[in-house]
Amino acid sequence: MKRAQIKPLSKAPFKKGDQVQVTAGKAKGQVGEVLRVDLARHTVVVKDINTVKRHSKPRSQNDAGGIITMEAPIHTSNVLPYCEACSRGVRKVCEKPASCKNKKK
Ligand SMILES: [Zn+2]
Repeated sequence: MKRAQIKPLSKAPFKKGDQVQVTAGKAKGQVGEVLRVDLARHTVVVKDINTVKRHSKPRSQNDAGGIITMEAPIHTSNVLPYCEACSRGVRKVCEKPASCKNKKK
């Protein structure tokens, strides 16, 4: 079966180091730092979020193998930029925290 062709994103929705909040899936509600953005797959990797365990066999003398925890990519539609002032993920982070419209009352 051929994998459906997806158009790579023309612009990165997030930058490395950005704070984002996950809005769907297992890690819903969690906030973390963007480590990588994959424009071709429309995914981001967020530090310590959506982790999966990989069982690896020792392949060389220096490779002990064992269980490795790593972050799985999350689709960009499932994360939002995190606004400190609102303390939640928002479509657009408020430029001036004082004029934050998304703030909880
Ligand atoms: Zn805000």
